Amino acid sequence: MTEAFLHYLWQFQQFDKSNLQTISGEKISVLKTGILNTDAGPDFTNTRLQINEIEWVGNVEIHVKSSDWQLHKHQYNEAYNNVILHVVWENDQTITRQNGSLIPTLELKSITDIQLLDKYQYLIDNQSIIPCKEHFSDISDLSKFAILDKVLAKRLQQKAQVVEQLLEKNNGDWEETAYQLLARNFGFKLNYETFLRLAQNLRLKVLQKHRDNLTQIEAMLFGQAGLIEKVDEYSEKLSQEYDFFSAKFSLKSTQLASHEWKFLRTRPANFPTIRIAQLAKLITQQQSFFSLFTQTNSIEDLRNSLKIEQSVYWQEHYNLGKVASKKLVGLGKDSINNILINTVIPLLACYSEKTDNQEFMARCVSFLEALPAEDNHITEMWEGLGLTIKSAFDSQASIELYNNFCTHKRCLQCNVGIEILKK
Ligand code: SF4
Repeated sequence: MTEAFLHYLWQFQQFDKSNLQTISGEKISVLKTGILNTDAGPDFTNTRLQINEIEWVGNVEIHVKSSDWQLHKHQYNEAYNNVILHVVWENDQTITRQNGSLIPTLELKSITDIQLLDKYQYLIDNQSIIPCKEHFSDISDLSKFAILDKVLAKRLQQKAQVVEQLLEKNNGDWEETAYQLLARNFGFKLNYETFLRLAQNLRLKVLQKHRDNLTQIEAMLFGQAGLIEKVDEYSEKLSQEYDFFSAKFSLKSTQLASHEWKFLRTRPANFPTIRIAQLAKLITQQQSFFSLFTQTNSIEDLRNSLKIEQSVYWQEHYNLGKVASKKLVGLGKDSINNILINTVIPLLACYSEKTDNQEFMARCVSFLEALPAEDNHITEMWEGLGLTIKSAFDSQASIELYNNFCTHKRCLQCNVGIEILKK
């Protein structure tokens, strides 16, 4: 038995209520179950009950055994003085408040359908990657949509928090934050942290002073990334420019080392050198990333603004002095979609929360619905179970559901799990 299961029983009143009584024989009527409290303090707040003829408003505390009250030292904690009902699986000890008054106790063991417990145990003990997989096809679309909506909202909130942390580090500067998020995204899976450090060490304000000159922007980015090796005329030029700018803007102390970049197991089109060249090009083309991301309502317009080709040198080379066997094209469709999902949408979600403007959150959802679904082992697994994944909304939500619910067996907080138990 777990407290999580007892929370579920209480929240959904999944027990025989025909003759509900405390262990001392007082009649109980539940008028309002209360609000599940995930912070410190009693488990449910604002509960309304009638015990015999008297109506009570207060908190409910839930334990596997009534003696857990003392084990958790609630007798010394004033926060528990307003507990109006102690709900336990098994009553093994009489419990009183600090003032010595008896706490009415409801024991669930004898009034709970054992089949419910078996179904719960089945989900918890199941070793499948998705514990409910045998039942998933029988679940109503309503439950599936409800949990996908819920987890997507959570995912957007979490992404907004990450942006907020970055924004705080940048002392509330949205422009630098948008640039750093974008730069981090250019690192994709392998180099995102290194890209972020590069952007944090080479502020947008510095780069923007020279955004009319692509070679100078490339020189600052490649130089600060520690990736300039003098091997040809172009790299000589970059080196010369970087020497000048690093002295002018005191950049040397935060210069990265070349070994911090990962080139292995990636195609030349994804090499950090190519991504830096693409970022450089975007910097020359956009006056304000923040305005671009927050003021563009149409996803097509955003896509078009991100469609760029890097400089000619980087279309023909994958590394300094290394000629590519075929032309390296600009930012591809998948990369642009990735930037929309991982930079633009989190930024909009954060901006929505900071400005308390739901319009931006609504835009996040409509963008996700308009973007194609991501394709990875998690989305494939869900599709194998019959879940329809046709947009980035579905893929993002299903990834969140798997990572934060299924793998932690949070089936009792999931609409799918609740439907399985109710069936
Ligand atoms: S969390 Fe929900 S979807 Fe995931 S295994 Fe449990 S019941 Fe199934």
